[in-house]
Amino acid sequence: MKVAKFGGSSLSNAQQIKKVSAIIQNDGDIRIVVVSAPGTRFDDDIKVTDLLIDLYNSKSQGDAIEAPLQRVLERYQAIIVDLDLDESLVAKFDQTLRTYMDTIEDPDRLSDALKASGEDFNAQVISQYLTSIGTPARYVSPKEAGIMVSDEPGNARLLPESYDNIYKLRNQDEVLIVPGFFGYSKDGDIVTFSRGGSDISGAILASGVKADVYENYTDVSYIYSAHPGVVHQPGPVYELTYKEMRELAYSGFVIFHDEALEPVYKHQIPVMIRNTNLPDIEGTMIVAQREVDPNKPVTGIAGDDGFLSVTIEKYLLNREVGFTRRLLQIFEDFGVSIEHVPTGIDNISVILRERQLELCQVELDDILSKISEVLQPEEIIVEENLSLIMVVGEGMHEGVGVLNTATEALSQSGINIRMINQGASETSMAFTINSSKEVKALNTLYDAYFRS
Ligand code: ASP
Repeated sequence: MKVAKFGGSSLSNAQQIKKVSAIIQNDGDIRIVVVSAPGTRFDDDIKVTDLLIDLYNSKSQGDAIEAPLQRVLERYQAIIVDLDLDESLVAKFDQTLRTYMDTIEDPDRLSDALKASGEDFNAQVISQYLTSIGTPARYVSPKEAGIMVSDEPGNARLLPESYDNIYKLRNQDEVLIVPGFFGYSKDGDIVTFSRGGSDISGAILASGVKADVYENYTDVSYIYSAHPGVVHQPGPVYELTYKEMRELAYSGFVIFHDEALEPVYKHQIPVMIRNTNLPDIEGTMIVAQREVDPNKPVTGIAGDDGFLSVTIEKYLLNREVGFTRRLLQIFEDFGVSIEHVPTGIDNISVILRERQLELCQVELDDILSKISEVLQPEEIIVEENLSLIMVVGEGMHEGVGVLNTATEALSQSGINIRMINQGASETSMAFTINSSKEVKALNTLYDAYFRS
């Protein structure tokens, strides 16, 4: 039994919905389908979720709502007409949006209810269409499915008791069509996950019904061993582990929402990345364990910018009991989350994402003053514009010279490595470099590991 999730690009118009429906019709194992809101149809087009956010902004600022409301409805109208469905659905959607705007006073709740409508309406359209072409399908709202979430608007988390409810969705006669991206709080309010959260819904449902596989349909056939926008024609990855996926997602591989990995990892449900436009291709499998080819220690390379480091120098730092704790406590007191803490004998660095400071509305200078006051270091060095380059592979801990290959290649390309970090599990190495060299570093490493 499979749970399949189709993203916004797979459902952007009637033609795409027909492709998706054919995939469902041709594969009797797909019993539960999770859908996104219609995505973009062409460059410069706007996703329905973003149109709904515009509608919310107009309403909350007291601007006219008619034009943004019509823009949302027009998208569904076009789809419904092209699929030959009953146009009364559009009037129903119109009514739903107006009712939300008239009755929900809390701004965060209204925002979530409007945003969730994108997937909610699409699920209703798709279930009607499938039924009309002879594949009995039923729309199941997240409330009926029992997807209970924390009451954190725009950033919901699943409540674990949901799994018992979801299990009951197994073995139904019809194909069940569930809108992604939201669940219900204990008080019965709609609460959305973070953006891109339909992946999370799919992963939750696949885990809850104990599916044999979770198929995640998008517009690419594979996860590639590097970002195709940065490295020329990188090779596909046929199989990778949850751990490898997590490490790659951390550093900017955005094929799959990283929070979606957690439920499938916990319940050991294999994930398959598939392409709606090329459904015959068996895409990348994400699994708990895989066989490692000793000649290919590295699975993928990724990079992300926007990091900064704060390095503290103090002679005999290693002799001061509790130094690291006091340093980290300062960041904690400011509410700032940190990423890595590489250490030397007489120095220690803290690497964080620059956006953390904005997010927490904290001035870096305030943190530095506190560090001076509490730890009395000899020197504090701040480096901005840093990128983190991750080299990821389950085979790395078996391989000898994997690190050497990277350092040699980077040095030959004249790239200065500011820091190296390797976790104990040895499935990844992280290099901190200046962001101006990120693209060059990724290409250099790709050549060294994959083209040599
Ligand atoms: N429609 C939502 C978004 O654009 C969720 C999703 O597509 O996964 O973020």
